Amino acid sequence: MPSPKMTDEQLAEHYGRRTSGEQPLFEPFQWGYRCPQGHRGELITWSKFNDHIWCHKCQLDYPSETCPMQRPSWMDPDEFGAFVSRLPFKPKILPGVDRSIEPPTKGKDEGSDRPGSQCC
Ligand SMILES: [Zn+2]
Repeated sequence: MPSPKMTDEQLAEHYGRRTSGEQPLFEPFQWGYRCPQGHRGELITWSKFNDHIWCHKCQLDYPSETCPMQRPSWMDPDEFGAFVSRLPFKPKILPGVDRSIEPPTKGKDEGSDRPGSQCC
């Protein structure tokens, strides 16, 4: 699927396709991402291209650095700050707290499913 500026082929060439099985544990909205047009929640998901977020509403792949973020209410500020500081870019952080986000469902009881414990 295209991004606002690139075709699928260009995206694949520049960023590479996400390999299946590499799907992050949390959806982007659970990290507080929203699309640049303000769509959030389950309207957005990880793109099939690296470093991109797919918006079902816009039908576009957005580079994740163009997607503003707001701290989810369930995440403490330190955790959110740590996540943001690991990003290879400086995202636009919206003030306040996003209370519309559901905490991720903790399916398995493995103790290692905190965000960030599975890292690259
Ligand atoms: Zn959108």
